[in-house]
Amino acid sequence: QARVKPFRTPGEEGPLLVLLTLHDITMLKRAEQMRADFVANASHELRTPLAALIGFIETLRGPAKDDPAAHERFLAIMFDQSNRMSRLVNDLLSLSRIEMDEHSPPTEQVDVAKIVRNVAATLELRAASRKVKLRLDLADLLPPVVGDEDQLSQVFQNLIDNAIKYGKEQTEVTIALTAPVGSKAGAVRGPAVMVAVTDRGDGIARTHLPRLTERFYRVDPARSRALGGTGLGLAIVKHIVNRHRGRLIIDSEVGKGSTFTVILPAVKGVATKREAG
Ligand code: ADP
Repeated sequence: QARVKPFRTPGEEGPLLVLLTLHDITMLKRAEQMRADFVANASHELRTPLAALIGFIETLRGPAKDDPAAHERFLAIMFDQSNRMSRLVNDLLSLSRIEMDEHSPPTEQVDVAKIVRNVAATLELRAASRKVKLRLDLADLLPPVVGDEDQLSQVFQNLIDNAIKYGKEQTEVTIALTAPVGSKAGAVRGPAVMVAVTDRGDGIARTHLPRLTERFYRVDPARSRALGGTGLGLAIVKHIVNRHRGRLIIDSEVGKGSTFTVILPAVKGVATKREAG
């Protein structure tokens, strides 16, 4: 919709200025719809564990009052459901915080290799519980990146956690860090750092790929929930990568596995030799 409004600034005799305002109603409508869907989805995701908690509390106070075995079983389920709500609330808060500062780019120089190494170390136990081996493959020379250390940690935490979750048991998850040049750096011009997380899981059908970073979009909702997923991990990744003016590329082949690649613009003219360890 276009609105044309002729006007003259006060006291000015010059030519009549025309102010043309373009309103893209479709885009506004779509944004509104997305927001409404988001609130509905978030409420639904919270309501399910909440209903379970209320149900179990009622049972524990009534029919199962004097049944110690039931107490034990129900409390374990209630603990899982509370953790699920807690993860969801944390992810919702992260997402809204990230959205708020998406338009103010980070200012600190950070060492991506160090961040990835720390995240991988914290996920070792989780990987071991699925008999997955994390393999880090770091290039010798990597330039620093202007970034937010906590947010980048969250990006790699979400991607490696997904690779462990959706990868097959007893396989390897590789995390490769390189400093790509030219076309390999995707749409990122100039120096860059590329982090590729590869799993050998079931892979993702092509039709799902464009929607994977939408909030609450899941290929298999039941599986995601059973594995403790909130459906917000990749949405968080996308927003953080956008804030860093980077790119997220998803490659996947059904039956073989997936590679999630993050490309971040790096600082010009500096490359740090990798620290041992
Ligand atoms: P979730 O909490 O469900 O894992 P994400 O936003 O992290 O949410 O991911 C969205 C969906 O993308 C997942 O539910 C899953 O279907 C799919 N997905 C993400 N990572 C992988 C992967 N490495 N392999 C296969 N599917 C994946």
